Amino acid sequence: MSLRLRVAVSFAALLLALLLTVFASSLTSLRHAFDQELQDEVVQLSERVVQGAGGAGFPFSIAPALLVPQVLDTYASPGTFVRVLDADRQVIAASAGPGSFRGPERVSWTRGNFARIVIDSESYMVYHKRVRVPGVFPYAVLEVGHETRSFDRLLSALTWRVAIVFALGVVAAFMAAWFLAQALLAPLERMTRAAESVDPASLERRLGWGGRSDEVGRLAAAFDAMLDRLALAFERERRFVADASHEMKTPLAAISGNAQLLQRWGDEASPEVRRDSLQAIVRRAREMDRMLREMLALSRAESEAVALRPTNVNAVVRAAVAGWEEQARDRRVALTVQLPEAQVDVEGEPDLLGVALSNLIGNAVKFTPPGGAVTVALARNAARVVLEVADTGAGIARQDLPHIFERFYRGRAERQVPGSGVGLAIVQSVAKAHHGGVSVESELGKGSRFRLEIPVN
Ligand code: ADP
Repeated sequence: MSLRLRVAVSFAALLLALLLTVFASSLTSLRHAFDQELQDEVVQLSERVVQGAGGAGFPFSIAPALLVPQVLDTYASPGTFVRVLDADRQVIAASAGPGSFRGPERVSWTRGNFARIVIDSESYMVYHKRVRVPGVFPYAVLEVGHETRSFDRLLSALTWRVAIVFALGVVAAFMAAWFLAQALLAPLERMTRAAESVDPASLERRLGWGGRSDEVGRLAAAFDAMLDRLALAFERERRFVADASHEMKTPLAAISGNAQLLQRWGDEASPEVRRDSLQAIVRRAREMDRMLREMLALSRAESEAVALRPTNVNAVVRAAVAGWEEQARDRRVALTVQLPEAQVDVEGEPDLLGVALSNLIGNAVKFTPPGGAVTVALARNAARVVLEVADTGAGIARQDLPHIFERFYRGRAERQVPGSGVGLAIVQSVAKAHHGGVSVESELGKGSRFRLEIPVN
């Protein structure tokens, strides 16, 4: 069942239940009032008869003269009857009309001295009074009745009228709820269609309901914001794949070219050519291997599922520095480390922190000419842990600075230095995964200082 139909049906059913409850209680009160009215009528009539024909022993007796039907007729009027019954409810005398009907009678209900009976398919309210007819019957029943037809008709006419009004009211309520629900749900309908038309190829579609400030407007704004984020994520993934395949192309082409060269020349190739080609293949394969590792580290750092745990940062720093000591020595770069005496712990992922720090140290060593110095320092204050890598190297050009943390961005001046341009993007993702950040200060020709900061709680 659609939401719209459900709203309309619920609304109509609720209204019907309400109306029926109100009507049922009104009908009961009305019926009660009518019964009361009828009971008053028959009691009054019976009193009139006893008063008019009271015998010796009034008010519990009637004169024998009343047992003549014509006398009883003087008390009865159209719609009422008066009769006297014996102990077995056999009619002794009755006024003309229904009272003298000799056919079977049916009692609908009795309540004290009152009863409702059906005589000749007409309903009557009757009142019984025990009387004596001195000298004739020591025990008799004076019974007066009043037809209920006029009241019953009134009630049934009222019921019909109310039923028709109710039916129309319920239909009207259903229609009103139906159109109201349509008006309320139309934006959802449009949103559904928009959501159905969203696919990765057309993520630029937006609802654009900026003018609405109600709940629907907020939902639409949330929907658009979700599409913005999705589009951004898709775009980033697309660019990543495009950039990665582009970066892979160069080393792959070099490997393939050198391998074909060796295949073509075979044993005829001179030992130097063979050595150069094999060296190129090994170097390029290593480059690809490093690139792949870096990409994996980047995607790991960017995934939501990085589980942080208590990590000894001193150990992470020592391991990362140790990994670059040989290369620094080869390049005659002085690599020093400054660690605090106390152990620094942080909620972190040791492998990712190690990769990030290693990337910073690797860059510093790579971009610092022989004779320069690289300093790695760890410090902790009340709010954060700071990992700093400073070098006396080439520095970074002002126009490169805003871009160096982008994936695959490489400084213009350093095209010859091996690298993939992913290193600093990894550092930034690792910092984000630790709810921290990375910053840089650099002066061209003098050196650079990278700071990786991680908040403690
Ligand atoms: P890669 O080092 O592989 O080129 P990165 O993402 O690590 O990629 O660095 C991006 C760019 O930032 C580098 O190409 C370089 O131009 C610049 N850079 C990073 N670290 C330093 C540094 N310590 N000194 C000078 N330039 C640096």
